[in-house]
Amino acid sequence: MPRQMTCPGCGEEDELTGERTESGIHISCDACGARWPRDTPYTCATCQGQDIHMRPQALTQYSRGTQLSIVSLHYIPLCADCDADMLARANRQKPVPGQYRSAASRRREGGEETGNLILPR
Ligand SMILES: [Zn+2]
Ligand SMILES: [Zn+2]
Repeated sequence: MPRQMTCPGCGEEDELTGERTESGIHISCDACGARWPRDTPYTCATCQGQDIHMRPQALTQYSRGTQLSIVSLHYIPLCADCDADMLARANRQKPVPGQYRSAASRRREGGEETGNLILPR
């Protein structure tokens, strides 16, 4: 069954395109360009909580030159508990850093990846 078939960026429901990638099927919104994984969990992989929020993650890519540019907005699930710091940051209109792996989408083993992520200011 289709899940999360509403664009988390603009609410579009019709102009959505599925795309198979190495990391699974991604949906992209033709209206605003947002992308998100189709199999977005609705329960947190770490705490099983259901307070999940979709927030934009900045995906960056080196183009031919040396310029780092944001190529598209990719949405990832954040748990209100386990990803509280990142969710608060996202709520201030700052995209989630591209290297961030949310606890909501992948079970976080004790201590791993939690304390050593340096956020750009
Ligand atoms: Zn959209
Ligand atoms: Zn959680």
